[in-house]
Amino acid sequence: MAHKITFIPGDGIGTDVSTAAQRCIDATGVKIEWEEAIAGLSAQEKCGELLPQATLDSIKKNKVALKGPMGTPIGGGFRSVNVAIRHALDLYACVRPAKSYIGVKSYFKDIDLLIFRENSEDLYAGIEFEEGKPETKALIAQIEAGSKKKIRPDSGISIKPISITASARIVKFAFEQAINLKRKKLTVVHKANIMKFTDGLFLRTAREVAKNYEGKIIFEEAIVDNMAMQLVQKPHNYDCLVLPNLYGDILSDLCAGLVGGLGVAPGANIGDDLAVFEAVHGSAPKYAGLNKVNPTAMILSGVLMLRYIKEESAAQKLENAVKDVIAEGKFVTYDLKPTPTDPSAVGTREMADAIIKRLK
Ligand code: NAD
Repeated sequence: MAHKITFIPGDGIGTDVSTAAQRCIDATGVKIEWEEAIAGLSAQEKCGELLPQATLDSIKKNKVALKGPMGTPIGGGFRSVNVAIRHALDLYACVRPAKSYIGVKSYFKDIDLLIFRENSEDLYAGIEFEEGKPETKALIAQIEAGSKKKIRPDSGISIKPISITASARIVKFAFEQAINLKRKKLTVVHKANIMKFTDGLFLRTAREVAKNYEGKIIFEEAIVDNMAMQLVQKPHNYDCLVLPNLYGDILSDLCAGLVGGLGVAPGANIGDDLAVFEAVHGSAPKYAGLNKVNPTAMILSGVLMLRYIKEESAAQKLENAVKDVIAEGKFVTYDLKPTPTDPSAVGTREMADAIIKRLK
């Protein structure tokens, strides 16, 4: 029976890379009935809504989606549609592997890191108070009265909620996945020395959860700023990381940088029974519609999706095809060539064609 999967092309370079990934996934021979849905700027143009209910309903019904990146204007405008999808569907675990592939320019070789980022709360909860608004002034007054600390009156405020519930479930998820994948070590990353009631709670909860996994995997703790430095100096000392939302977002981009950049960094957003697969990168508007960018991150997100729907051999076949095309270095996009202006670089579609050829 065919798997029914929601397909959201995305904005900017989204359509280029998601279509390339869809073609590669189909070429593995796994039977998939794609249900196309829209979200983001393209949805706003078509139906006046950034995140139509029909799109959320499609994901809820099919349980799995492949989604291209979507744009979000910085400071003002709407809140990120990507974050809204994760919140609406309670996709609480963001999984981002950072793996070295031969042929990708990078400072390090043989990196194989797995990042588990909490996806539902922290400074991404979307609870913000704009500078100068009456409710912001009222909140500042209330905080000053309660904390006996001063806040400048011209401040904007973003709230950072971190709960035991959400911390426990992401840490449990990370342990379960890491052990299933026969990984050796899980490091919890935090800033508990400064934010005792949020990061401190995350760390204490992680320690509690870790007691259930004693003897099964090494458990370590690291402070986020030190972790950033350690990762760029000695990335091979680490294996799996579990982090609150903001640190997870930042350090997963850092880890993507360690293995050659956003063009090769896949991701998954997973909840109790729903999952949305997407590249770590955004919609790179300057390259929109140019058939130029690297489809690897999106195709590798498809590999994660195939594993999730228990199509392991197709997933391995597709990952090997991607690996071989990159290692050969012939039919690859500009970012995988020795220089970005290399005239032998191929487009997004042509790189996907080369991967598909290897699958035959
Ligand atoms: P971006 O990831 O879109 O692009 C940054 C740069 O990385 C690009 O200019 C390009 O040089 C490079 N790059 C990205 N993807 C690439 C690829 N596949 N191949 C080769 N090079 C690639 O980040 P940005 O410019 O900060 O954000 C653009 C928009 O995307 C913003 O609106 C942002 O909010 C949004 N965004 C969306 C998602 C998502 O959909 N999940 C994630 C991140 C950012």
